[in-house]
Amino acid sequence: MEKWLITSAWPYSSVTPHLGNMVGSILSGDVIARYLRLKGREVLYVSGSDEHGTPVEVEALKAKLSVKEFADKNHNKIKELFERWEISYDNYTRTENPTHIEFVQDFYLKLQKNGYVYESTEKVHYCDKDRRFLPDRFVEGECPFCGFKNARGDQCDGCGRPIEPESLINPICVICRSPVHLKETKQWFFDLPKLEGEIKAYLTSKSIHLSDIARSFSLKLVDEGLKPRSLTRDSKWGIPAPFEGAQGKTIYVWMEAVLGYVSATIEYFKKTGNPTGWRAFWFEKDTKSAYFIGKDNIPFHTLILPGLLLGTREGYNLPSVVDSTDFLMFEGQKFSKSRRIGIWIDEALEIAPADYWRYTLLSLRPEGGDVNFKLDSFIEKVNNDLNNVVGNLVNRTVVSFEKFCGSELEAKPKLDEDSEKFIESFLKRHDEISSLYESFKIQRAVRTTILQGEEGNRFLNEKEPWKLFKTNREKAVSVTYSLLRLIRLLAVELYPITPATSETLWKNMNEQEPILSFGWDRAKEDFSYPLRIQRFPPLFKKLSREEVISKLEGLRGGGRVG
Ligand SMILES: [Zn+2]
Ligand SMILES: [Zn+2]
Repeated sequence: MEKWLITSAWPYSSVTPHLGNMVGSILSGDVIARYLRLKGREVLYVSGSDEHGTPVEVEALKAKLSVKEFADKNHNKIKELFERWEISYDNYTRTENPTHIEFVQDFYLKLQKNGYVYESTEKVHYCDKDRRFLPDRFVEGECPFCGFKNARGDQCDGCGRPIEPESLINPICVICRSPVHLKETKQWFFDLPKLEGEIKAYLTSKSIHLSDIARSFSLKLVDEGLKPRSLTRDSKWGIPAPFEGAQGKTIYVWMEAVLGYVSATIEYFKKTGNPTGWRAFWFEKDTKSAYFIGKDNIPFHTLILPGLLLGTREGYNLPSVVDSTDFLMFEGQKFSKSRRIGIWIDEALEIAPADYWRYTLLSLRPEGGDVNFKLDSFIEKVNNDLNNVVGNLVNRTVVSFEKFCGSELEAKPKLDEDSEKFIESFLKRHDEISSLYESFKIQRAVRTTILQGEEGNRFLNEKEPWKLFKTNREKAVSVTYSLLRLIRLLAVELYPITPATSETLWKNMNEQEPILSFGWDRAKEDFSYPLRIQRFPPLFKKLSREEVISKLEGLRGGGRVG
């Protein structure tokens, strides 16, 4: 059985993900994991909370909690939200788990032994009062580019540019607000340039699938010349750097979270009592792996992760698919927590069921440029595509089945030519959806699934079985039967997109076998008889604009939205 390791970018545990984070990585990975499981592949879907790094420490300080307490609270909250969004992780773990910490430390010692880690000095801000170094976000100051007053040590929120520590104007310590100065400190570096040739060969190999933007951006960076990457930080919160003489230093968060893909696989197999099982997912050459990320995360997955894995000289599989999305905008603007622009995944579930958001986000998935999410289009997509197209088709078909067949069929009925042709066309479209998923064109796969419903309604309106029933009963039954075949097919096709609805439909169609083991391909086959389906409640409810806006305003404490 073909093995697939599916991963999505590790969310920062200090913030709740918003809809843009959701569609870019987490939901994209989930759709593909669910589709591949339906196709009978052996799938392992992993990710986890990225808990180290200065943002977490700074936020914990503001929340007046110990960093560990703060991290535990956030990890548990995010994990629970993903469950409510029906994200089907096999292992959603965290960078604070002991398996990860041990793996990262061993890994870097191997890289050092192989000559890919070296020591050097750099200048970092230092607070005399707190007697500590202040990496990254522990300092604030004025942006040298745009003059923004509250620029952080590593990046300016005003103009978005990265900042070198030396160039920050009037830097102050975020803990005690006193002025700080630069002090020399020893750090460890990953010698990425040594692996440049191998990385270039990997990026240009025909056997990997990269989104266009991921390939062109990565090759551009290689052609400009890869730079060594800083590996350590003078900070307590994180994984202790294992190198000799590195006491008091931790591994830079970006350089360890990316190894979580491996350690999460190891941890999964440890938990399931098969401690060597993970090796099949990382070393067997025909195992495939797909990484779903936002476009801001490309170099870590196309250059640094492959570089790290190559540096071990152990023959790790490199990513076979790196699929990056563009950004989702909210009502024409960037998501911003401080300015309250956007919807966060906890708020979304207070407004509508997860399936409604899942469908809308996936049908808008930003695959060829940034995409604008509007509340109005959310409402329209739910009401039109889910309720009118899918919901009504299912309902009308089941009512027809009751009227024209008495809710049961003992055997496959005799079919007229038009019904045969109709069945042939939606079975063909089922294969098209399959090829779209296999080439990671998720947005088109989702839209083609809705097209199945549209074509079903068109056929129903054209054939008017309620009229046929009076003149040609056999034809009315033939039309109804072919529509029943379509809605069962749709139940399977909706499983990656709207899993809860798919399961409800499946159950109501009295299918005995679980949908997952029944699978994608067998959905094309005929029913097993006798077939009995009773009327069931509507799958979806329409949303009203007023209701959505008032719920959102309620969540925001009465502030006007939209
Ligand atoms: Zn700036
Ligand atoms: Zn200070």
